Amino acid sequence: AAKKNGRNGFCWFDNGMEVELRTRNSLEADIRSAIPNEEFVPYFEQQIDLETGELAGFEMLARWVSPMRGLIPPDEFIPVAEETGMIADLSLSIIRKAMLEAKNWDPKLTIAVNISPVQLKDPWLAQKIVKLLVETGFPAHRLEVEITESSLFKNLSLAQSIVGSLKNQGIQIALDDFGTGYSSLAHLRALPFDRIKIDRSFVSTMHENPESAAIVKAITGLGSSLCVPITAEGIEEQTLVEKLRELGCTKGQGWYFGQPMSIENVRKLLAKKNLLVNRKSSNLAERP
Ligand code: C2E
Ligand code: MG
Ligand code: MG
Ligand code: MG
Repeated sequence: AAKKNGRNGFCWFDNGMEVELRTRNSLEADIRSAIPNEEFVPYFEQQIDLETGELAGFEMLARWVSPMRGLIPPDEFIPVAEETGMIADLSLSIIRKAMLEAKNWDPKLTIAVNISPVQLKDPWLAQKIVKLLVETGFPAHRLEVEITESSLFKNLSLAQSIVGSLKNQGIQIALDDFGTGYSSLAHLRALPFDRIKIDRSFVSTMHENPESAAIVKAITGLGSSLCVPITAEGIEEQTLVEKLRELGCTKGQGWYFGQPMSIENVRKLLAKKNLLVNRKSSNLAERP
């Protein structure tokens, strides 16, 4: 197979490249039809208050339940959705589902959602999120928006204005995966974060790796000096819980507490903990 290459000639693909391109094109087409088919769904990972040991809320994580491909993790479709601009629709549709679901939870429980760097280039992003709050009736103060540092370095002033609008509505802002990527301590000063999340690559290796432990300690120290609460992600062992609590992490999440769960399993968990709100039948008739 050949492809025209600019003005003067052809560029030959080898077979491997052709297969890769075909796979990528069919993945793109499948994602495009999966959005209106409602195949993208929210999963939920518990976030624990490390001081009380109680459930504080959930981080919503996207999953693709594809009839053709099975249950697909975000790493396999988010990059393609970002490159093609489909991420905006995909993301807003699952955030909407998550808000409708979280309305049935005890009002002390929060929900954190991940926002792609691509979405932070949209000057209307804050308005779109606020519109979802209005439509679903989910309260702004129970929503936390997680952004990564890589979203900030391209257009900091736009990110600042979006974050400012979200905060004006009472939405919390978390800096995700802190310590990885294009880290700059200046970001902590440029944006009024309500929370910093230590990346799991540091937390999960704290035990065997003194450098990781030192980095976790430095970040928690920074958090306490700046009065910004810290969440530790990627807690896989019980022994880390106490350690992180001593270091001043206020929240934690990870496989020790539980793997990301489907809506059905969240309902079962919350029913057991008596954390579901009894709602009037008119409200229950609402469909996601
Ligand atoms: P993240 O926001 O840092 O999410 C945490 C990831 O770490 C999740 O993977 C979670 O399942 C995994 N994890 C949590 N605890 C542990 C643990 O103890 N051990 C290990 N090994 N892993 C743990 P997941 O769901 O595959 O998500 C991967 C990334 O995909 C997320 O990283 C986030 O950056 C992105 N993502 C997920 N949902 C969305 C979304 O709706 N929009 C956007 N833009 N990105 C999303
Ligand atoms: Mg996150
Ligand atoms: Mg994270
Ligand atoms: Mg991470």
